[in-house]
Amino acid sequence: MIQYTDTRGLSSRSYSFTEAVLTGLAPDGGLFVPKHLPHFSLEELQAMQSLPYHAVAARIFKAFQPNIADEAIDALCAQAYGQQFDDERIVPVHSLNNHTHVLELWHGPTSAFKDIALQALPLFFEEGIKANGAGGTGAGCADGAGGGVSAGGAWISACGTSGSIDTSTSAQTRSQAASLHSQAASQRSQSSAQAGSKRLILVATSGDTGSAALCGFSHAHNISMAVLYPHQHVSEMQRTQMQAHASNQARIFAVRGNFDDCQRAVKELFGNPEWNHTLQSHYNTYLSSANSINWGRLLPQIVYYVSAYHQLREQGVLQECGCFDVCVPTGNFGNILAGYYAKQIGVPIRLLICASNENNVLAQFMATGSYSLEKRPLVSTPSPSMDILVSSNLERALFELTQRNARLVRAWMAALKTKQAFKIDRTTFDALRDTFAGDWVSNDDCLRTMKHIFETYRYAMDPHSAVAFEVAQRLGDSSTPMLIVSTASWAKFSASMYRALHNIANDQPLPSAIAQCSSFQLNALLAEKFGLSIPPALTQERLATTHAAVQLDRNTADIQAALEQFQRELACGK
Ligand SMILES: *Cc1c(COP(=O)(O)O)cnc(C)c1O
Repeated sequence: MIQYTDTRGLSSRSYSFTEAVLTGLAPDGGLFVPKHLPHFSLEELQAMQSLPYHAVAARIFKAFQPNIADEAIDALCAQAYGQQFDDERIVPVHSLNNHTHVLELWHGPTSAFKDIALQALPLFFEEGIKANGAGGTGAGCADGAGGGVSAGGAWISACGTSGSIDTSTSAQTRSQAASLHSQAASQRSQSSAQAGSKRLILVATSGDTGSAALCGFSHAHNISMAVLYPHQHVSEMQRTQMQAHASNQARIFAVRGNFDDCQRAVKELFGNPEWNHTLQSHYNTYLSSANSINWGRLLPQIVYYVSAYHQLREQGVLQECGCFDVCVPTGNFGNILAGYYAKQIGVPIRLLICASNENNVLAQFMATGSYSLEKRPLVSTPSPSMDILVSSNLERALFELTQRNARLVRAWMAALKTKQAFKIDRTTFDALRDTFAGDWVSNDDCLRTMKHIFETYRYAMDPHSAVAFEVAQRLGDSSTPMLIVSTASWAKFSASMYRALHNIANDQPLPSAIAQCSSFQLNALLAEKFGLSIPPALTQERLATTHAAVQLDRNTADIQAALEQFQRELACGK
């Protein structure tokens, strides 16, 4: 078994995989990392090439030796990477030409790359809850109706494909996957009969993470989820998706305030020992988080770099060195860090290129070794999921680049907190530059790039991925194949697509007839006019189910009361 340590080195003990996942963040504020990494030779990686994605995922997960039985890993991977994806490769590589290839990470149930991690994470949580042993049962329900969470009922999730098998497909791997998938689903529902402690996962979202998290957790056993989002401050598509992917046990709360109000409430609730105690004693429930610093989100992301390698080999585009560059549209540094770990375990990645938007703190860091938040207001851009200034997962990269020097990492993170800035030493900077590069793209260049890609390749690319495309053009090298990591479908960002294709700058208003269109109408209009296709997950029929959000005032006491009401209803089987 590989144990976990943390990047700040003050933890007095080590953690198992499921402890690291359930705990999320180390007690000293550091991030969990495995004590050592597995390694694959090229031959070993190549030997997996003919396996379906879920089997590759299982091989990679097992190599990290988690405290989960091999059969459970197989079942879990089959369940996470099954028919909720609209392409059987799960992460298809689309080649624009011989040199530039797009890794499409948006074929999952919410058409965003976060699905790939969030389809697996709840299953890790379930394993962790089982491993942690039994607690009480059915507490918290005043009328004694029992502790079960009903699978049916009024809340039916739009992403609830668990257990349903599409018998119309004939491809062999597909049906094998389906049978493993249903086996997995029945094994899991049996295990849910075991009494154990439960988890309530709190998520504050500015929009995009919400639906992927809801969808992932909508059927998890013994795990409920509350997503807080700012009322009237998310896009119409984001709200529609959250309403469709909510379920009886994964619910949405619209907070009358902004994103910071949501995040503050979540932090205060985590930091409130009395309330945590109430949840434990009344509902046998512990608070958890599912944010992108959780190791359980990173591990699944390593797999798609392995799959990309397989697909590039199959297409015969790798040259003699067999290596390729990757360019990643970056926010919290999770995706690109998974690429770094993929390289560490043996995937022949040469350069990892970090692409930023106008919030270009990482580009500056890659150029200077200095990370500074001074005089940096958060700018809003066409790529909102990258509008981040503190890229939390960078801490793990620094830990690795310093040969795991927790003392240095601790000092830098302390400086970031107190002085809003830190600067790395020369040796670490050289190590950084050996592996990473970075640049950034302005709002208008992002839209121009989307247009250029469409005109040159007849390919619709979303604004986040277009940022990566443009940076790759600047920093790539013609002799090394380039993998653009594409993180969302264009159809989630149709207003930007409309602007790009009609030469309307980011700060110019849309024509009023267009501004009045719903996202579905705008998608249909663009699809028709430019021959684009819309992923099935974003069609009106898939998103027809509606679970209204509970509206709340932004004060923490109201939010707390609503969450407790939610737990009471679950305990009573409502
Ligand atoms: C979350 C997200 C990103 C940023 O990914 P990180 O792992 O946080 O760097 C980029 N693009 C899209 C569409 C996202 O949803």
